[in-house]
Amino acid sequence: MSLSIPAFVEMLHELQASLPNDRLATIRVHADDDRLSWTELGSCDTRQLPALPVGQDRDCRWSLTNGAGLHAHHHRALRVYDFHLDWPDPIQKPGEHVLDATYLAEGAGVGGIIGAVVGGLVAGEEGALLGLLIGGGSGALAGTLTPRRRQYVVSLDQAMGRTNISPTWGLAPG
Ligand SMILES: [Zn+2]
Repeated sequence: MSLSIPAFVEMLHELQASLPNDRLATIRVHADDDRLSWTELGSCDTRQLPALPVGQDRDCRWSLTNGAGLHAHHHRALRVYDFHLDWPDPIQKPGEHVLDATYLAEGAGVGGIIGAVVGGLVAGEEGALLGLLIGGGSGALAGTLTPRRRQYVVSLDQAMGRTNISPTWGLAPG
């Protein structure tokens, strides 16, 4: 059975909806698992937006049609991709993503937040981090690097067993 990307995204969405706010729904897919439509997914986005380090070797990001982002952590040694949804899509709204995904707001002073937002408007997520370093103190930096949600990882088999899938979202073009 082949799993379309919209159906896969819907599974992630439903899993996330079933979890408390401090957990990040994550579906682990082995690189050899051809149930997932890898060709539909296409290549890993080459834009190197910074990502929270959780041991991944590289990050792959795709924009979705509803304003969310699909994000995979590739763990080379394990030969797995850990997928989750980011809201809002960090490719389109990097500054907002930093605020949503981390404890930046709680950790930062006003200068750090303003610096991050202005930097984000100017130069994307890297600009946000640069602005943060300029405007904020060490408390802000520590907040930035602390993920707001702990990953809740299920296998593709577990994810497919717990939902009836009605895909409503797709990959955005480009
Ligand atoms: Zn992410």
